[in-house]
Amino acid sequence: MPALTAPESLHPSPELRAAWCQIRRSSSELIHRIAVVTVAITVAVALSPWLIFRACWGRFKSGSWLTSEVVLGRHGRALRRLRFSGPMPGAGLASLWHVATGDYEWIGPRAVRHRDLTELSTSELVRLEVAPGLVSLGAIRQKMGLAHDGVAALEHSMAYKVQSLDLGMMARAVLATCLGSRTSGDDTVCLFGVDIDDRTMASAVDELVDAALHGRPQRVAFVNPDCLNKAYVDDAYRSALCGADRVYADGIGIRLAAGWRGQGLRDNVNGTDLFPRLCERAAQEGLSMYLLGARPGVAERAATTMVERYPGLQIVGTRDGYFGDDEEADVRQTIRTSGADIVLVAFGAPRQELWIEEHHAELGASVALGVGGLFDFYSGRIERAPQAWRDLGLEWLFRLTREPGRLWRRYVIGNPLFVVRTVLRADRRLNTPRGER
Ligand code: UDP
Repeated sequence: MPALTAPESLHPSPELRAAWCQIRRSSSELIHRIAVVTVAITVAVALSPWLIFRACWGRFKSGSWLTSEVVLGRHGRALRRLRFSGPMPGAGLASLWHVATGDYEWIGPRAVRHRDLTELSTSELVRLEVAPGLVSLGAIRQKMGLAHDGVAALEHSMAYKVQSLDLGMMARAVLATCLGSRTSGDDTVCLFGVDIDDRTMASAVDELVDAALHGRPQRVAFVNPDCLNKAYVDDAYRSALCGADRVYADGIGIRLAAGWRGQGLRDNVNGTDLFPRLCERAAQEGLSMYLLGARPGVAERAATTMVERYPGLQIVGTRDGYFGDDEEADVRQTIRTSGADIVLVAFGAPRQELWIEEHHAELGASVALGVGGLFDFYSGRIERAPQAWRDLGLEWLFRLTREPGRLWRRYVIGNPLFVVRTVLRADRRLNTPRGER
């Protein structure tokens, strides 16, 4: 029997198919627009008491309800962006109007001011193809201290992927607005008697590279709420932190605690995000590293990963962190003869900070950092929280789901304890302040 084929006339012509695609695209754009506008109107109605109060307050303080500025909208079209007057938070909420009129999306790149147009590079001009967003990924990460490579780079790499009514992104934006804090301008924040250095990620990396290049001894620690809880009851550990040359703020807990004391932090300078940046710079500057700690084979796998990622990086030795007292001297001697400029010690807190305090001078390396579970992440032994969890300040929760048996005390008991101690300002002091040591 001959095979059945559809008559020629039943196959749609290319023109018909193109027209059908166009109809589908237009209708999905229309549905998207209706959804965006409906949500904008709903939010505006829900927030109307606040919006009215905000507008009146601006008028009372500065004599005008709104201010406006020319920005570039979709396809580079100029439009007047509205903001409520006055310095009170919420000025940008006036842009809800632009979402309702279709000039803005909910999520998208920051609007480019007309007068900044000349500062955009040719590749950045692509960003003008899409509508600006009321919420931008760059602004979220900046508020959470996670815009480590600069807002412009983030806007450029991410903004186009999230051009939609993305509820997860909107939740992140709300959270970042509530949790994010403005920087106070001070260079240190004191929590539980420990002075924490307030740095951007870039300036922290610069400091470490500079110290290594000039052979300046630098003991470095990263502190999170668990570290401060430990330091609260452990005088030796607190003393090691107070004696360190740099103590960086690791994670959302420290950010919140500093914010509650009226001192915003510039960045979340955690070891896990700092490590690749340090490796990149070390490779460029010809600085060598030694990785000490974690289970057998883990530091070695982390080293292989980083050397592949940053060609030219010199990792001059690795060793696990489960050696006996009888091997101590040999470990130190091996590091010394390796000639490493920077040594990363991953024994977990407080052991790593105490070990560095005791032995730094014998290691020959200018910079020594205590880095916790860092090698576990870069070796692939433990999965790191996805970026969305980190943007929400929930990296700790992700870790808890991965290792509940080991970490439940640290987070389930430790986090509330940290909050109570912070709120009660239950600081512990050493007799000698850091500057005098
Ligand atoms: N570790 C070690 N020697 C020890 C105990 C622990 O090298 O005697 C390692 C452990 O394998 C892990 C790191 O120290 O890689 C501690 O990780 P943890 O998750 O506790 O650190 P965090 O990053 O949470 O401070």
